[in-house]
Order: sequence, then C-alpha cells, then structure tokens
Amino acid sequence: MRSVRICAKMRCTDEAVATVGLSYERRVVVIGDLVPEPNPNLVDLCSQHVERLRPPVGWRVLDERVPVPTAHP
Ligand SMILES: [Zn+2]
Repeated sequence: MRSVRICAKMRCTDEAVATVGLSYERRVVVIGDLVPEPNPNLVDLCSQHVERLRPPVGWRVLDERVPVPTAHP
C-alpha cells in the first residue's frame, strides 16, 4: 500500500510522478523517479509540471528517470 503524493506546485492537485532536486554546486536540476519517502530538500512534481520545468539561467536539467520499459512484441 502506498500513499499518493501530490504535486508540490501551488494549486496543483495532480499526483506526483517525479522528484526534483537542485544541485547548487553543479548548477543542475535533477529530475528523478519519485523517491519512496518525502524529502524536505526535494520537490515532488506531476508529469505536467515536470514537462514545464525550466531551469534557472545558467542551469542544466538532468533527467535521471528510469525509462518505462516498453513491452516486447
Ligand atoms: Zn503539478
């Protein structure tokens, strides 16, 4: 049994699908799979807000999510 996590964006009630963290040393926004436990240093976002995510100027986005395996024929 898992509890549903909600997107951290204000006024958004969609289910979170990814966890985003900031690496200030590397200036990287890291998108990862939803972490099992809520972490105060990370934000959970829904798919829509992950897609819309724009890094601050001078930052890169690193998507470390594991791709969903496609079914083999
Ligand atoms: Zn959202």
